[in-house]
Amino acid sequence: MFKKILIANRGEIALRIQRACRELGVKSVVVYSEADRDAKYVKLADEAVCIGPAPSAQSYLSMPAIIATAEVTDAEAIHPGYGFLSENADFAERVERSGFTFIGPTPDNIRMMGDKVSAKQAMIKAGVPCVPGSEGALPDDPKEIVRIARAVGYPVIIKAAGGGGGRGMRVVHTEAALVNAVQMTKAEAAAAFGNPQVYMEKFLEHPRHVEIQVLADGQKNAVWLGERDCSMQRRHQKIIEEAPAPGIPRRLIERVGDRCSAACKKMGYRGAGTFEFLYENGEFYFIEMNTRVQVEHPVTEMVTGIDIVQMQIRIAAGEKLPFTQRNITMRGHSIECRINAEDPVKFIPSPGRITMWHPPGGPGVRVDSHAYTNYFVPPNYDSMIGKIIVHGDTREQALARMRIALSETVIEGIQTNIPLHRELMADAKFIEGGTDIHYLEQWMAAHKR
Ligand code: ADP
Repeated sequence: MFKKILIANRGEIALRIQRACRELGVKSVVVYSEADRDAKYVKLADEAVCIGPAPSAQSYLSMPAIIATAEVTDAEAIHPGYGFLSENADFAERVERSGFTFIGPTPDNIRMMGDKVSAKQAMIKAGVPCVPGSEGALPDDPKEIVRIARAVGYPVIIKAAGGGGGRGMRVVHTEAALVNAVQMTKAEAAAAFGNPQVYMEKFLEHPRHVEIQVLADGQKNAVWLGERDCSMQRRHQKIIEEAPAPGIPRRLIERVGDRCSAACKKMGYRGAGTFEFLYENGEFYFIEMNTRVQVEHPVTEMVTGIDIVQMQIRIAAGEKLPFTQRNITMRGHSIECRINAEDPVKFIPSPGRITMWHPPGGPGVRVDSHAYTNYFVPPNYDSMIGKIIVHGDTREQALARMRIALSETVIEGIQTNIPLHRELMADAKFIEGGTDIHYLEQWMAAHKR
């Protein structure tokens, strides 16, 4: 096991990784920007190094600053968390070339999954079901594009190979709009991602977002740890996640889960990962793989009892998976609400000083947050300030516990989306379970948001 790990991230995930290190008896170094000087994980760290000013480009995205800090603090490995440099294959490569261990997959695997065209091709080869569409990137010839769209069937969605964060996509309903839409998406993709390649998929009208968590050790062992339903999204940003996904037959989940772990073995995948699928009419369709820990990993930890962040570290240290698929059991139901510092009606960020922070507690309640009374939420980063996660024997019990947890939570000084979560936990359709990815936006429109 490593003696010391550098945490190249901030916020709740920096604290989460630090806790995992502590439990494993590993010392941690955190890097932080000038805006995060007063953060809890900075105070709790064994060592903390300020690497630059508030803008991410000069701190959390600065590869030389991070690698130099690992050097001077004698850290052996770097955990990238999520966001920032976590899916940057060049960073993973530079970390390894500088003699440190990157806590994550190989640079080659990150690169392959970062390009959605090559990711999809790898998945088709590995027998993972994908959304029907163009095989590979779209050609330039307009006639060919029209032919492909006819074969796929309208509506179609044009997606950038290098896209991410819900950007670089365009839905096309008619042939008349097709060629122009492809050209516009290409131009945008070239400007935003430095890669003009686009591909086409059938546009699914009412899918749910269901994803499979995997763990693999790069030594031919891989398991899947159940699924998460992340369909409650606004502008492609998830706000509520749960495990298991309500109402999906277990045999379907098992079939797709087994395909994911088989794909990991085939790729020689190492570390934690997530296969994201759209689910519609009893079918799963792969859309992308995330080669890192996800924000919503705690719901899987709650139902499986497996610490995903500790497993990432143990795998990076060369350990084999300590369990096989047969040892993995799932118990009960877990729900996570992301707490964002934002206006709950207008959805604009609400940074500033938290004058009162009272997190919930009680049986089956977990709060992952770096916030505290008097903490200043900087305006420079993502607005998520923490997550409330509950576990219950049944979905009903988990829902009840989430309602109680939300009612106990007091956050003053800034605005948060807690009032929105309270309303959603009382919404009949959400309570019924199985809402699709458009439900939240439709709900907001109906509630004049
Ligand atoms: P990103 O990496 O930008 O998140 P994804 O490929 O994961 O891109 O797609 C993001 C979201 O876009 C999905 O969660 C879904 O809401 C929508 N989407 C993507 N592909 C399709 C599709 N073929 N049909 C319907 N919606 C889609």
